[in-house]
Amino acid sequence: MTDFAEWQDISGSGVALEGASYALVGREADGGRALSVKGSTTGFSAALAEASDAGVYPLTAENARALRSRLPWLNPVPLGLRTSAGFGDRLGVATPGHIAAVRGTGVAPIFAQQSVRENTRTGRTPQLVLDDAMWSVFACGWRDPWGADADHLKQPADIPAFADAGYTFFTIDPGDHVDDAAEQDDLATLRAKAGALDWATLGSSLEDARASYLRTFALDSLTLTFDEQALLKALVKYGSAVAHTVRMAGQLQVSMAGRPFEMEISVDETGTTTSLHEHLFIASELTRLRVPFVSLAPRFVGRFEKGVDYIGDLGELDANIGGHAAIVRHFGSSYKLSLHTGSDKFGVYPIAMRHTGGRVHLKTAGTSYLEALRLMANVDPALFRRVLDFARERYETDRRTYHVSALLERVPAIDVLGTSDLPALLDEFDARQVLHVTFGSVLDHFGADLRQMLSAHAAEYTETVRRHFDRHLEAFKTRS
Ligand SMILES: [Zn+2]
Repeated sequence: MTDFAEWQDISGSGVALEGASYALVGREADGGRALSVKGSTTGFSAALAEASDAGVYPLTAENARALRSRLPWLNPVPLGLRTSAGFGDRLGVATPGHIAAVRGTGVAPIFAQQSVRENTRTGRTPQLVLDDAMWSVFACGWRDPWGADADHLKQPADIPAFADAGYTFFTIDPGDHVDDAAEQDDLATLRAKAGALDWATLGSSLEDARASYLRTFALDSLTLTFDEQALLKALVKYGSAVAHTVRMAGQLQVSMAGRPFEMEISVDETGTTTSLHEHLFIASELTRLRVPFVSLAPRFVGRFEKGVDYIGDLGELDANIGGHAAIVRHFGSSYKLSLHTGSDKFGVYPIAMRHTGGRVHLKTAGTSYLEALRLMANVDPALFRRVLDFARERYETDRRTYHVSALLERVPAIDVLGTSDLPALLDEFDARQVLHVTFGSVLDHFGADLRQMLSAHAAEYTETVRRHFDRHLEAFKTRS
């Protein structure tokens, strides 16, 4: 049993509620963190130190759950149609920076957000991701609603672990069921493929679809006319994806067992652009099938790549987002447009806000990790050189599941770079993408060093992340 006196309040945001008080405490000797509970300690377990009517507890999943049951604002909740932003955090230490950036903006935050793919690469679990965010929500004194996003769920079996952990926002990715070949198929092929769709799950038929769609849809700012070709292409390309979404929604209902949640549909990580006709088709089918969704992430024109600004013609994107926003309004503005791979798209944000009137969700995933590397380049250049060297070796393998176009030959070799050149690499297109997609491999090799660096420079890291996201959130502010 450790001496109670070694633990000191580090959060400065201790909370007293209903006769008990809670605070995060730290121990100088080993940098350890724990939870101090005074008053009733029922439900907390595995005490590190105990006094009468008080204890110090490890930051375990059990104790996180016990604290959530005492302090309601530590539970993630659905955020509805508010302008919102999701902050992925691969290391579990960036939430204080996210909170500092989002405070006062009026933007509704999602502080826990990881995809199945990212958890696989980082070796974290849905529960760990949510609890890491929650401890920071507690430590930073954030009391407003916040969400937790189970990102890019691909199959029903992905869902229960996130539902059990307390997630409230579920991003369904039916991308594996999108038939990109439909873009090229001739009419005969499209007809054959459409005939073979899972019409039972769709609760419809080709005749029904013809009756519903072969007409002109007059939206407020444009009209969309479906001819045979446009309808068959939409059906073939996205029909199976809609059916898969229905199955996923069914699993979610079961797993959530009556608890409130919201659902996003994402088809952003597919091979072809989502046309306006196709967006209308997807939204209309999900509505007909009574699958409620709070946001939809189409694949827009041009390229949204990891960690860099929009690649393409902003004028064309402006018209494209304007069209997608008109479709959202056609459905009563009952959902938001979601911008995936949203970090660093500074040219896109004002366009998205203007067209949607704030019905928008911004999703960023790996950028807080890149900010950790920026800090590393400043405070431990030798380690950063080893990381960059290693990332160069891994890039061609690790890039395969991501949309990136960086070329290794454009990343300067380590031996020509001076120490003062290193942080600026985090602002260069190619180096940024190479570092972005190799995070899993880098964490496998340098995870312990990276975490130690971040824990020794926690305040600087929070400040680095805050500065980075202040720029992101500027365009989304609903309060000033
Ligand atoms: Zn995405």
